[in-house]
Amino acid sequence: MQRQTATYLVLVVLAVYLLWPSAPPSPLRPSLVPAASPAALRRSLSAARVIEMATQSPLYNVRVPDTPGHAAAKAWLMAQLRQIDGFELTVHEFVDDTPLGRKAFANLIASSAPDAPRRIVLGAHYDSKLFDGFEFRGAIDSAVPCAMLLELAAGLSPLLPSAPPDLGFDIVLFDGEEAFVDWTATDSIYGARALAAKWAAEDRLARIELFTLIDLIGTGRHVFHDAHPASSGVFNRLADIEAAGRAAGWISDYQTPSYFRRGPSRMTVEDDHIPFLRRNVPVLHLIPVPFPSSWHTHADSASALEPKPIADILGILAEWLHSLVRPAARRNLRPRRPAHGMTKDEFLARIGRECDQYADAFESWDELFSLRGLDMKKRNIPVRQRRWILRKTEMYRQQHEPSDD
Ligand SMILES: [Zn+2]
Repeated sequence: MQRQTATYLVLVVLAVYLLWPSAPPSPLRPSLVPAASPAALRRSLSAARVIEMATQSPLYNVRVPDTPGHAAAKAWLMAQLRQIDGFELTVHEFVDDTPLGRKAFANLIASSAPDAPRRIVLGAHYDSKLFDGFEFRGAIDSAVPCAMLLELAAGLSPLLPSAPPDLGFDIVLFDGEEAFVDWTATDSIYGARALAAKWAAEDRLARIELFTLIDLIGTGRHVFHDAHPASSGVFNRLADIEAAGRAAGWISDYQTPSYFRRGPSRMTVEDDHIPFLRRNVPVLHLIPVPFPSSWHTHADSASALEPKPIADILGILAEWLHSLVRPAARRNLRPRRPAHGMTKDEFLARIGRECDQYADAFESWDELFSLRGLDMKKRNIPVRQRRWILRKTEMYRQQHEPSDD
């Protein structure tokens, strides 16, 4: 019986594999069946595969911008990103002056639903820091974060056809994060500065609901701080997922009491998020502070990597991303009943930002709480108000009073 069941399962898996209507899966991933639940998505991701990608591929080259090792790492990353269905690759090339002369750079951007008005950016840098005297591979800085983004994107890929149509992801692998000599405003984050300026000129920054940056993940203690008020809600959501994961037993024993340290923190670090933060983009920066002791030393290598924190953090991010792609809560939640007889017009007036000008676009209180972003777009509500209304109705469901801040 067991053997028959196993045979049957093999046949089903084979049939799904053969009949799946997308391009052939990457050789790194055996299956591209959509993960129906957050747990299924989490379980489909592999820290071992992340470590393999980060350390057994050209990504592990010394990859200082404008060198052959960098070119090979870039070509490998581009090939990986092109294999992930549902994402379109854009290569943002530019040149800039550095203390070591003029250099060529390239940010790699893989976008799902490129025209969708709500964007979630997931970023990490793929260049490595130049050191004289030893070959710096930057396993945690940031080969592993890049490989984590590849793994997350591949896991999300089969879910994208059923994602909210107004939501898109931008996986951004930044070039030129590291200083060539010493970290200054002009000798660092070359790629992030260029991309933030480009997207500002293209009026794309207002579409970014959250700019998430991961860095220095893979060894040592990982304590993440809630350093940016605009992303505090998401930070606490990640802390909630971690707490639930500990209770359910899928978070390892690697680190106690937690990776995500709740409570506002002033612990800010300069990194690729800065040019976006300065342009008022909401930023979530997941970098361990204090930094691991191997940071910017020869010890930041493959042999120091630990699968447990990579698996734990990958799992937390996977469950969060699943909730964005499959927002069951939004679909299943009935609108919270209006308190004190509040009308939809009063609600829209109280949340400010001129949302009350669009009161007539909603026929009822229930419609105010059930329309998705794309429906609001069809009713000519501008993106700024759409985002604010979606945010404020969700907050109201969570028992926050309507307010204009
Ligand atoms: Zn670094």
